[in-house]
Amino acid sequence: MLFGSPGSGKGTQSKFLVRWLGIPQISTGDMLREHVRTGTPIGKSIAARMKAGELVPDRLVNDLVFDRLRQPDCARGFILDGYPRTPEQAAEMQEVLATTPTTEVVIHLVVDYNVIIARMAGRRVCPQCGTLYNAISNRPVNAGVCDLDGATLEVREDDRPEVVRARLNEYDALTRPVIDFFRHSGVKMFEENASDSTPPEIFGRIQTNLAADEFMELAGK
Ligand code: AMP
Repeated sequence: MLFGSPGSGKGTQSKFLVRWLGIPQISTGDMLREHVRTGTPIGKSIAARMKAGELVPDRLVNDLVFDRLRQPDCARGFILDGYPRTPEQAAEMQEVLATTPTTEVVIHLVVDYNVIIARMAGRRVCPQCGTLYNAISNRPVNAGVCDLDGATLEVREDDRPEVVRARLNEYDALTRPVIDFFRHSGVKMFEENASDSTPPEIFGRIQTNLAADEFMELAGK
């Protein structure tokens, strides 16, 4: 499980982990945005909340995640990115995972909020293929244009500063208790200071921590 406030680099670290471990990333944010983009009934029911940076109902997210975990590509493990986000989601997830031979590890990316607001203001997304760019760390070759398909890059609706502030407030109120929940239930947790290192440096530290852990034997690494 990758934890961290919006903009802490969860998506980037997930992608590194996917490549390293060969297991899928399950990003509830991506799954939900896909529903909104394709206009499914679920998408229509959550579009306004997503736009406002508010969490969508636990029942809906839990059902989406549990369905996804039943897919065969999750049999060797999976990386949860952006889930669980509330103590209720965490409790139900633990109940479901308790019936499987899964070992849980939490990686908590800790980033200063001022760094996050600056980072997200520089973020752009390709409306066609979803690739993320960043004015600081990951610029497109031609400014404002996607390297892969040439589409004009956009500011993701929920990266606007006022929405970022709402999301950080919501993270504090709802998601921090999830970290406490896992601490109390004895789930293994690594805290990574992710404020001022490059993404590969942060990943290097995550690898070191995980490699020193019995978890890696279970993952077959
Ligand atoms: P993310 O890309 O993870 O920052 O998620 C973007 C938005 O999707 C959030 O602001 C929420 O509206 C929604 N979302 C993503 N994951 C969850 C979750 N686990 N529970 C509730 N809402 C979520």
